[in-house]
Amino acid sequence: MTTHRILVRGGHVVTVDPALGVVPNGEVLIEDGTIVAVGRDLGVSDAEVIDAEGGIIAPGTIDTHRHTWQTQLRGCCSDMSLQHYIQGFWPDAVPSYTADDARLGTLAGALDALCGGVTTVLDYAHVTNSPEHADAAVDGLQEAGIRAVFAYGLGQTDLFAPPHYDRMADFTRIAGERFSGDGLLTPGVAFSEIGMAPTSLIAAQKRLADEHGALATVHTGAVWANPTGVAELAAAGVLDPRTVLVHTNTLSEADWKLAAEAGVKVSTTPESELNMGAGKLAISTVLRHGLKPTIGVDVVSLNSGDILTPTRQAVAYTRWAAAEPLNKDGQDVQVVSPTAAEALEWATANGADALGLADRVGSLTPGKRADLIVVGGRHLGVRPVNDPVGQLVFQTSPGQIDTVLVAGEVVKRDGKLVGVDLDGLLGRLDDSAREVRERMAHRAATAVPPSPEQMVAFPQWMAHNLAS
Ligand SMILES: [Zn+2]
Repeated sequence: MTTHRILVRGGHVVTVDPALGVVPNGEVLIEDGTIVAVGRDLGVSDAEVIDAEGGIIAPGTIDTHRHTWQTQLRGCCSDMSLQHYIQGFWPDAVPSYTADDARLGTLAGALDALCGGVTTVLDYAHVTNSPEHADAAVDGLQEAGIRAVFAYGLGQTDLFAPPHYDRMADFTRIAGERFSGDGLLTPGVAFSEIGMAPTSLIAAQKRLADEHGALATVHTGAVWANPTGVAELAAAGVLDPRTVLVHTNTLSEADWKLAAEAGVKVSTTPESELNMGAGKLAISTVLRHGLKPTIGVDVVSLNSGDILTPTRQAVAYTRWAAAEPLNKDGQDVQVVSPTAAEALEWATANGADALGLADRVGSLTPGKRADLIVVGGRHLGVRPVNDPVGQLVFQTSPGQIDTVLVAGEVVKRDGKLVGVDLDGLLGRLDDSAREVRERMAHRAATAVPPSPEQMVAFPQWMAHNLAS
């Protein structure tokens, strides 16, 4: 068997590897999908060449929280608060998806992510209306060719109807059938929402994840009215370095202490959190507790699928928050923090660490899989390259990312997805979106809203769940 060699050359190589740093006019040599050398003038003449002249070569970015299935609902939540989303959008959206909608939304969402240079995503798939939906979502990820943690939604997907199948048993089936261990997809679980199920059930879900070597993830602390559940989860042994807590805006100091002691991973989704009113971003608090920030896109029903935009929002917000006490005191800031290099780590190496994939991806380090992007040198917005790291974080848009590789496979070349019938896909996506929205409208018009008594009883019900 011959070795397939690829040489990516001519750009500034931003490795995100502390030992290698940035290599100006550098080269990355790939053999059979693995990075084997990074440097200048590697002296290779027998490889397929990808020209990055004048541009930037960087690791693919890593998104630690995205509901990829929501692609059909792009833009629907532009002016929604989180409460509106949770009470008046999500409950109608999920049950309105057929298995084929789930496959198509996940496929298109994953391709959109790849287009923007996201080569790994934690797909929080709480569209698991049936085993067929779960398989369909995995199919979508597989067809897209993205690296992903498929986090099986174990919670109830229709708030008005009890679950009609055993999701934990079905996760066991899918973990055995669909994940080979060395492929692009690795298994994960998304717990039942905190307070919506007994804590003992979430603990059982965590044990199930551990049995299968699966990552676990859950939303917490985005809604001020709801308890975070961190103390209960910690007491139940749920929190550890294989658990990704998402949002965390409302966590107390006591919560953070427990989370840090357990070594949890944290995903911040700046665009959805800031725009939906969830509160302050947790980045500086995460850092203060010795944890590593990571970034998620969350929902394209609100924001774009581009991860560099929320990354630069997180930098701006965190710099603003650091400067605010001084500014309020009439003083000027002398040194800004965090730096662009730190922010790039949030969207690359830290994300890989959070997803348990740091040995495979997250930096351009020889021995890791070749997940990388080329920001093209023929775009006005890219040239001249004076600070490749800063320009990656603050100035790069998906349209400037000309080339994307996943495990050495070229999935985007010359600005276009490879092997994708885009017109056909977009047509199917429009049809599916229309049908999903029609079903949602029908549900919204016919659903019986909760009675005032139920609304009053809801906090007690949540408290009971947390304690049991
Ligand atoms: Zn989410």
